[in-house]
Amino acid sequence: MTAPLRAIHVEDPITPQVRAMLEALGEDPAREGLAQTPARYAKAMRYLAGGYALDVESVLGSGVFAAEGEGAVVVRDIEFHSLCEHHLLPFYGTVHVRYLPGRRIVGLSKIARLVDLFARRLQVQERLTEQVADALVQPLEPKGVVVIAQAHGDARRAEAERRHAHARAARRARRDRSARERR
Ligand SMILES: [Zn+2]
Repeated sequence: MTAPLRAIHVEDPITPQVRAMLEALGEDPAREGLAQTPARYAKAMRYLAGGYALDVESVLGSGVFAAEGEGAVVVRDIEFHSLCEHHLLPFYGTVHVRYLPGRRIVGLSKIARLVDLFARRLQVQERLTEQVADALVQPLEPKGVVVIAQAHGDARRAEAERRHAHARAARRARRDRSARERR
């Protein structure tokens, strides 16, 4: 006869660290209002930093298609919530993505999921936009990408714009074109 299954509660290793922090702040982590706080905080951090468990390939999955038209694709007002890497404090806002398709496009909902993937890591706003742009350049080979983030909260700058991936994709497109013309 096998032993009956028992639910085993394994405490998140973050939880005791939060208890220690509360004590260091002069609080009593055992008082009623705080008793569950360390476990809740650990759960919140696991969600807010959950982007480390995701990768671009699995997020894009089968959502990449052959491009048919030539027009720019614009996705506006993608909401994000992130944590700044300097203070572990929240910042949030919206991201706008505009790309000029090359051979491939991606489903619009996948772009929002890419933003979420990178937002849910410890971030600075400039790198968030750069990583979203880079994640689109490799699988789509677009003729250009611009990613703009408008952030609130802890971010020092209200707005940052990255053209890094845009310039690189444009340079490559020019190179490909001149190679074709030489043939
Ligand atoms: Zn900060």
